[in-house]
Amino acid sequence: MGGSVIAHAGHPVVVVGAGVAGIAAAVSLSRAGVPVTLLETRRKLGGRATSFQDPRDGMELDNCQHVLMGCCTALLELYAILGVSDAIEWHPTVWWANPPHDPDVMRPGWLPAPAHYTGSFLRMRMLGVADKRAVARAMLAMLRMGRPGRQSWAGRAFGDFLAQTRQTPVALERFWEPVIISACNGTCAETDASYAMKVFQDGFLQDSWSPVMGLSRLPLARLYDPALAIIEGAGGCVRMGVSVQALAYDGSRVSGVVTDEGFVEASAVISALPPDRLERICSDTLRAADARLRSLGEMRHTPILGVHLFFDQPVMRTPHLVLPGRPTQWLFSKGTDELGRHHVHAVISAAQEWMPLDEPEIAARVMRDVHWGIPSSVGIDPVAVRAVKEKRATFACVPGIDALRPSAAADSIRGGVRNLLLAGDWCATGWPATMEGAARSGFLAACAAIGCAPGVPAPEGAAASIPAITDVPTAPLARMLGLRDA
Ligand SMILES: Cc1cc2nc3c(=O)[nH]c(=O)nc-3n(C[C@H](O)[C@H](O)[C@H](O)COP(=O)(O)OP(=O)(O)OC[C@H]3O[C@@H](n4cnc5c(N)ncnc54)[C@H](O)[C@@H]3O)c2cc1C
Repeated sequence: MGGSVIAHAGHPVVVVGAGVAGIAAAVSLSRAGVPVTLLETRRKLGGRATSFQDPRDGMELDNCQHVLMGCCTALLELYAILGVSDAIEWHPTVWWANPPHDPDVMRPGWLPAPAHYTGSFLRMRMLGVADKRAVARAMLAMLRMGRPGRQSWAGRAFGDFLAQTRQTPVALERFWEPVIISACNGTCAETDASYAMKVFQDGFLQDSWSPVMGLSRLPLARLYDPALAIIEGAGGCVRMGVSVQALAYDGSRVSGVVTDEGFVEASAVISALPPDRLERICSDTLRAADARLRSLGEMRHTPILGVHLFFDQPVMRTPHLVLPGRPTQWLFSKGTDELGRHHVHAVISAAQEWMPLDEPEIAARVMRDVHWGIPSSVGIDPVAVRAVKEKRATFACVPGIDALRPSAAADSIRGGVRNLLLAGDWCATGWPATMEGAARSGFLAACAAIGCAPGVPAPEGAAASIPAITDVPTAPLARMLGLRDA
């Protein structure tokens, strides 16, 4: 292995937080032959992408529907390591409600990327000719500017770009807002243009596999169960229900972590905590010693509301449905549960206004949107409702956010504490707050902990190297039209 080794033999690498980032770091280190102690305050794995047992009826429910895409290469690598790739169901088609007509359909056709959506886009009835022209104008501009052009928009709002490309009110309401609110958890006016453009350049335009939507067939928490055997099989351990209270800093390095169950010595510590949680366990001395830790309190967060609806009869005819222009952005059909109820999950991103509402009011508002998007459901009411409010669901992807996102890679340490590595969706991966960003940060932090580059062959005796982070290649025609790499 090349590079300087930060972790040393004798003590494990301690990973704090068993969300996607912490799990990615812990399992990749374990496979590289490095014993890990993974500490998690809750009694389950998965962090914000997890499931819980509903005390009302004992059913295991996801805290919220989590969507991945074909371009989520690191997350898919993590699922492959965990052996759960088959649990992901792939959906190339996206349905857009357009009442009183049947839903519009968007699916990749036979034309090569970036023209793969042209056929179905032209057939969509929710947009008129002028709206479609405006959308095409913006897509072409994003192609032409390539990834360097996207970076030049960093720090400005995506709404400014949409204004510059003369979008119609209908295109804004029915196309741009639903996509950006769902992907970035903020409106077009609130979202940093470079992240919104990434959604379209890397998610829609670069090739026809990237936009394909993946949904877990298993409750989210079950996806991570195999992590336990991988970590323990490499001589490490997973301790759940253990809360880290402080990072022990001796003036030059972090010697371990103070937990509610005592001190855990560490050769290196990977914090896979959200920034506000990390701030709580850093002393003033540590913050002063490490520039990466000085802006932790400045990141703002945005809520997401997930609403589980249970019906005594089928309601949805499509696996999912976008509700353009409505406060509820997406509906997902979750099939029939063990109690024979038809389960529909509704998602409201950028849900600030919903946070003070009680469950009956939430149910009433969501059902107005369900009835709007699925006219055949009018007169049908849910027999049970479970609303899950995640007040700090994701960091707010606002203009200027890059200044607050330290990299998870070793080169970001620059004069800071060498054996303290950072991971988490909020680290600078170029992704908005997503499971993919979290997985990437976890792999990068694992490499930093043992001083190797991603993908470098594992040492003798180790099962595997830490995965290299690779992007889906851009299709030749998309490259020719301008979608070049940075
Ligand atoms: C409602 C909702 C919907 C979402 N939808 C999507 C989606 O569709 N697609 C997508 O890609 N992303 C989605 N996201 C975002 C995604 O869930 C996150 O980006 C990702 O899970 C973050 O992972 P992480 O490991 O960085 O952080 P976290 O998941 O927050 O993990 C941090 C872990 O640290 C633990 N912890 C905290 N303090 C301590 C402590 N002191 N000691 C020990 N452990 C501690 C926490 O319990 C947690 O398990 C959604 C998020 C939410 C909330």
